[in-house]
This record gives sequence, C-alpha cells and structure tokens, in this order.
Amino acid sequence: MRTLIIGSGGREHAIGWKISQDIKRDELLFLPGNAGTAQIGHNIAGDIMDFNHIKEVCLANQVELVIVGPENPLCEGIVDTFRNDKDLQKIAIIGPSKKGAQLEGSKDFAKEFMQKYKIPTARYQTFTKETLKEGKAFLKTLNAPYVLKADGPAAGKGVVILEKYEEAAEELTEMLNGKFGASSSKVVIEEFLSGVECSVFVITDGKNYKILPVAKDYKRIGEGDTGLNTGGMGAISPVPFADKQFMDKVTQQVVLPTLEGIQKEDIDYKGFIFLGLINVSGDPYVIEYNVRLGDPETEAIMLRIQSSLLELLQGVANQTLDQVDYKENPQTAATVMLVSKGYPEQYEKGKTIDIAPNNNEDIVIFHAGTKNTENTFVTNGGRVISVSAIGENMEEVLEKAYAATEKVSYDGKFYRKDLGFDL
Ligand code: ATP
Repeated sequence: MRTLIIGSGGREHAIGWKISQDIKRDELLFLPGNAGTAQIGHNIAGDIMDFNHIKEVCLANQVELVIVGPENPLCEGIVDTFRNDKDLQKIAIIGPSKKGAQLEGSKDFAKEFMQKYKIPTARYQTFTKETLKEGKAFLKTLNAPYVLKADGPAAGKGVVILEKYEEAAEELTEMLNGKFGASSSKVVIEEFLSGVECSVFVITDGKNYKILPVAKDYKRIGEGDTGLNTGGMGAISPVPFADKQFMDKVTQQVVLPTLEGIQKEDIDYKGFIFLGLINVSGDPYVIEYNVRLGDPETEAIMLRIQSSLLELLQGVANQTLDQVDYKENPQTAATVMLVSKGYPEQYEKGKTIDIAPNNNEDIVIFHAGTKNTENTFVTNGGRVISVSAIGENMEEVLEKAYAATEKVSYDGKFYRKDLGFDL
C-alpha cells in the first residue's frame, strides 16, 4: 500500500518504522521527512501546508494512504481538501476534518464540547474583550493558582498559570488585548486541577475505536520537571497509575462520550484522538484534546503495538476497525530525547552526528531534527534524535535506553537523566 507520511519529526519516523514492517521501502514516502526516514523510505521535499503540492505528490506517486503527523495541516483542513477533490477522494487520509480539528485548534470549542457531552474537565468560562470585567469577576470565584488559556494556537505558550489574582487579572487583560494576536481574542479561564498527567491515544473510524498504549511525557527541559517547556524530553509507556480501574473510567467517562459527541455533531473523524488527562485522586479529567499522535510518546508506544498499524489504519479508512485484531505488547517502553545544547532557546545546527551500529532489537533510534549532508548526518533542530527501548519493567528499560544514548554522539548533546522519577 503506497503510503505518504506528512511531517519531519521523531513521531513521523516512528510511525514510518512501524508501517515499514508491512510494506516495501519503495511504497513508503515522507514529506519532508528527515535523515532517518530517508533510510526506511523516500523523502520528498515540500511544505506540509502546501496542499496543492501534496496533491501533486499523491497523484504522481499513486499514493493510497496519507498519514498526517502534525496538527497544523489538520487544523487548516487538509482532510476536507482530500474529501472535496475528485482526484483525491479515493485516497485514505488519517485525521479529522477541519471541524473536528477544532478539538485541538480551539480551546473554547473543546471545552464547550466536553461540557455538552458531560466529559470530566476543569470548570471554566470563556471571555472576550467585551466581557473582560466579567472575566475578572470569574477569576475571583476561583482559588489560586489561576489557569488562563488563549483559545487558539500560540506556539505552546498560550497557557499561563499564575499564583496571584492581580497577576491573573493583568494577564487576562493583556491576552484579550492581543498578546497572542487573534489566538487570544477569546480566553478560557479554568479551575486548576492537581494531579499527575498522562496521554491516552485512541484510534477511531468515527464509530469504532481501539485504545492504544498509554504514555506519559516529560515536557520541561530540566530534571525534576524544572525549567522551560519543550516539545517533549522523553516518554514512558505504560503509566503505572493507569491501571484497569483507571482505564475503565477513561473508557466510560471520556472515550465513549467523546465518540458520541463526534457522531452527534456530525464530525468526520477517522484518525487519532490524543487525550491529555490528569489523574485527580483516581479520576480522569481531560486537560486537552489533540487530534494527532504526540511526540515523543509515539516513539515509545510504537514499540508496544503488537498488531499491524497498517491494518489498523486500513480499518479506520474503511470504517471496519471493529474487525481488526488489536494486541498490545505488555512490556514497558521508554524514549529518551537527545536535544541540541541551548534548546528550547537558541541552539546551533549543523553538528555532525555519529551513530554506532545497533544490533539490539530492544533498542530503536528515531531521528527528529536531522538531515543528510554529504553522506553524514547533521543536527537540524532542537530535538535531534530519540532513543527508544523496550524491556520487562521500567527500571530495566530506562537502564537500556540510557545505555543506548551512548551510541549517539554530537557536539552539545543534552538529555534528561531522570525519566520515570515521579512514578
Ligand atoms: P501542549 O503543550 O500539550 O500542546 P497546550 O498549549 O495545548 O499544551 P494545555 O495542554 O491545555 O495547553 O495546557 C498545557 C499544560 O498546562 C498542561 O499540560 C498542564 O500541565 C497545564 N494545565 C493546563 N490546564 C490545567 C489545569 N486546569 N489545571 C492544572 N494544570 C493545567
């Protein structure tokens, strides 16, 4: 099955690695991909937001399946483009329509959806410039810390958590006055929830679903979850507290009502749903929806999906997911992200990367920000390479993953050495 994966990160390399277990190298394309994806398929240059170019690539290469890695093309309606174009209609594309992508693209839309379908989430209200006064009054009804969220995308900076009422009122004013441009023309204010977070990934054909392995990512640059936020410094799967009892609650209270909402709202959704959950005294609350897989969680969970991902995706496209066998590997996986010195602030690119040969089947190396220059790999982003390992338990798997980080060397290599510290 000729497959095109859109994106260039470790997530796309990991999806491609899993798919490549079922198809030939010549059938696997990436746009634009990275130096690692070039080893398992073919990279095609291009901008992931240039839908005309993507159409040309699909038609020129007889693509049958498109997997969209990042959220931006989904939020901008790539799925609708495929559905509405008679040349592209026959191609299966994984992801929701533009309407469904609002679950990630608009926090107000997501909160309203959760409220309507009685999905547990923090109490909230949404405000605009016209209702600033009411917003300040609503803040007064909440206890500190105060959580303010720009409605639209804001490069990961749109969620602000503040300790003092005065600071929160000031931040609300600034946001509504355009701090994040149009993205903060609406601001969601919500109650602060205290607990440990985890990521639950669901795959759906719009009617049927499978729950993929649960993971936890580590967002901050510093050990002990300190310092600046990053795209993600590592992940582990499964998550010890996400036991059967917790996951039963997730299914009943979150997954089923989410699917009911998708159907009742007539949303075309054939893809992944990423539930950002927080465990509040044993109960799951939804912090956020994402409409694609997470990075770096994907680099860990792909090692734990025993079934064929390609068959699952074909089931999604044909709306026969209920007939596809799904098995999870009960072992534990961990991913350590190796980043450039200085990340997530200023960092240098173009450092030569050496990767020692890896003959251990329990270790998989995925590229993120890398490219090929004169037959050598060089760094080309903040997050450079991830090292994933699988093993019997968390202790063993972390030991393996950290030992394998020694296989990769480049100037300025940095990674967190405390994954799993909080579990
Ligand atoms: P991401 O970086 O995951 O894409 P985002 O910018 O879309 O995040 P959210 O996921 O809504 O925004 O919030 C970012 C982080 O802020 C969460 O991962 C969580 O740690 C924290 N957070 C958000 N809402 C709450 C809340 N109500 N209570 C406590 N913490 C919260």
